[in-house]
Order: sequence, then C-alpha cells, then structure tokens
Amino acid sequence: MPVYIVILGPPGAGKGTQSRKLAKKLKLAHISSGDLFRENLKNGTKLGKLADEYIRKGELVPDDVTIGMVSDRLSQKDTVNGAIFDGFPRTPAQAEALGKMLAEFGGEVNMAAYIRVPDEELIERLAGRLTCRENGHIFHRKYNPPKETGRCDYDGSDLYQREDDQAETVKRRIDVYHEQTRPLKEYYQKLGLLFEVNGEQSIEDVMVDLLEYLSVEK
Ligand code: AMP
Repeated sequence: MPVYIVILGPPGAGKGTQSRKLAKKLKLAHISSGDLFRENLKNGTKLGKLADEYIRKGELVPDDVTIGMVSDRLSQKDTVNGAIFDGFPRTPAQAEALGKMLAEFGGEVNMAAYIRVPDEELIERLAGRLTCRENGHIFHRKYNPPKETGRCDYDGSDLYQREDDQAETVKRRIDVYHEQTRPLKEYYQKLGLLFEVNGEQSIEDVMVDLLEYLSVEK
C-alpha cells in the first residue's frame, strides 16, 4: 500500500527542508507545489506564467490550477510507494481534492505533520533563506549556511533569494496562511491524523520527532 504524508505549517516553518529529508529516507516522492510552480516558471510554461502573478503578491494560486498540477505529478512513476506533500494542500478544497485523488490510487492521507513556528520567527527565517536555482535545495545564511558561499552543497548551482521571501510579500504570505491554510490543522485533527512538532528546534531534532511519530528507525 502506498503511504501518503502531508506536511503542514506556515511559510518558513521548515516544510521543504524536512520533506526532502523524509522523502529520501522513506523512499517516497517529494511533491512540493511551490517547486512545481517555480519549475514551470523556469521552463516558461503557461502555467508558470499564470502562477507567477499570484506568487509575486504572496497570494495563493487558484485551486483548480493547483489541483490539476498536483494530480498530474501524482501520476508519475516515482510515486509508486507514496509521497510526501509539501505546501499542498493549502485550502480545504485542495484537501478534499487530495483525498479523492489518492482514493483513485487506492490510498488516503495516512499522516499529517504540523510544524509549529511563531510568526515573529518566520520573518527572520525567510529573510535569510537561500534557495538553489537548479533543484530548490534550501539553506539559511545564518542557521544552515552552505559550505561555499552562494553555491548549493548538493548540486553546485547558484543560491538566490526568492523574490517572494522579501519582507513585504512575506507578511502577506503569513496572513494568507492564517486565513486560508491554518484551518487544515483542524481538518486533519478531526480525522485523527494530526501530529504537532515543535519547529523551533534544530533541523536534526525536528527530523527526530517526525521519524518518531512515523515510527521509523532514526
Ligand atoms: P512555497 O514554495 O510552498 O512557499 O510556495 C510559494 C508560492 O507558491 C505560494 O506563496 C503560493 O503563491 C504558491 N503556492 C504553492 N503551493 C500552493 C498551493 N497548494 N495552493 C496555492 N498556491 C500555492
């Protein structure tokens, strides 16, 4: 049976960092809607251009577009064992759609991990975040610096600051999170699937908590 895990939390909570590590460890596909949008934008697709209009403002891309993109991604071969969802779902409509999509593959959301970080800390984290141009690997100037300045440890590509990680957009993204995405915490709580992790720990310690919850050997 495939395993499907949702990682929830505000922007800058560490969803991307933890999801990548978890996916590698558990041999699951890593599905990040934000990465998929940025990849589309890099490749100059129509979807990428449309998404960019919303991303620049810190708003959510419309549900139908986002759901369609994730549904296509789920039909790729690397999802046979399951997937970790990073940044998706972000609205109740997306959560409902995800449930339906997974049912088609004979599965369901098995777990939802919520990474908790207070708003004040998110702003500092996002302001110092560096993202790798080629594959979206994530670093932080202070808390998780690359070995060589400006270069990704994993693939050697350039590191850059995402335009939407700048202060003005970050504030909007956090508000949008509270308005539209935060209700998903209760959604998965009601389904008995929610696990809350303290995101104010080191990257390694957050990982330890997640693995413990997932009952996986560390
Ligand atoms: P992220 O990389 O997860 O921080 O996402 C960057 C931006 O992409 C968000 O601020 C949204 O504009 C857009 N985005 C990513 N995932 C979603 C989603 N599930 N639904 C709507 N918009 C999304």
